[in-house]
Amino acid sequence: MTQINRKRFNKNQNKISWSLLILPFLLWAFYKSSLYLGDSKLNINESVSSLSSSFGIFSPLFSFFLKCFFFFLPVFALLIFELTRVDFKDSSIGRISRSKGFKYADIYYYFMHLLGVQFPLLISLVTLNIAFTYQGLSNWLNSIIEPLLGGNTSQFSLSIFLILAILLQDFKSYAVHYICHKNPFFWDLHEFHHSPTEMTILSQQRDNNLIGAFLNPLFLPIVVLAPLLVNLSLSKGYIIPVVIYTVDLFIVLMGSLFGHSSVKLIFPKFLSYIYMSPALHWIHHSINPEHYDKNLGMKFPFWDKIFGTYLDESHLKDIKGYGVENTEYNRYNPFYTYYLLPWKKIFRRIRNTLPA
Ligand SMILES: [Zn+2]
Ligand SMILES: [Zn+2]
Repeated sequence: MTQINRKRFNKNQNKISWSLLILPFLLWAFYKSSLYLGDSKLNINESVSSLSSSFGIFSPLFSFFLKCFFFFLPVFALLIFELTRVDFKDSSIGRISRSKGFKYADIYYYFMHLLGVQFPLLISLVTLNIAFTYQGLSNWLNSIIEPLLGGNTSQFSLSIFLILAILLQDFKSYAVHYICHKNPFFWDLHEFHHSPTEMTILSQQRDNNLIGAFLNPLFLPIVVLAPLLVNLSLSKGYIIPVVIYTVDLFIVLMGSLFGHSSVKLIFPKFLSYIYMSPALHWIHHSINPEHYDKNLGMKFPFWDKIFGTYLDESHLKDIKGYGVENTEYNRYNPFYTYYLLPWKKIFRRIRNTLPA
């Protein structure tokens, strides 16, 4: 691996800078989970709405601005944090310009992904918030999940069910990622995520929406389980499941942002048995053939360990670079690559598999 120049800190500076960085991530997780909270005092989303309503006709604009603020907060915080940790050329901003292919492509992909996936998702979540506070819909959602729980709806039971739902959801992510690596049709699409030759926070968003469109419907019961349990917990006034859900959002965001950043985050030994250290995702993107199809999980290490795809931190030193050699995804301009190339690859694959 090209040696990253790291800046040195004393212990106290280290502690302070990490606590300062964790804060925006926590705030983001609280904000996102509060989209489910309805009328609760903890609902940051509600506070944002009532604060912005005092801005009169500028209220929608102010509300949008504040929501964007929460949305981008962890990304900005980590971009700045990187600059305090490594030299500029080794930070995400410095590396974007060096990634092979179209110059600064990751910036285009980041915003195309935001406009195409994240913002519609954010809007639907905000709409869901209204839906969740609407008693009729909330009751209807509860009527789906409650019979499945066989009367076990105490706070303790729901917390356990939620942990199981989160585990199941993570297994689903592992399974989808496994399919993406082992099935040529899905690899054609997932290759895009592996195409950057430099790991940057923004290249995390090199993601193909078609994968979810094809595979998520198959896993729908798993995907909706955790939100249904959170909704039921809220209607019963339980707070512990919401805390568990918030912690989970926090861990997911840490994993995906740090996993693609220049900051090597390795969890203490005891924690790494439960959560995958984000730096292990670097191995997943490595060009070393011994690292291919390894560390497919992003949150829990269990599935990689069970199915023999786990490589621990000791393999980080064997990373010689990132990306996929001669990938088509680095050959054209970002617009063609993002919107048309996946379809071209799908049709080519179908044509090649059909009997002549
Ligand atoms: Zn992958
Ligand atoms: Zn990745």
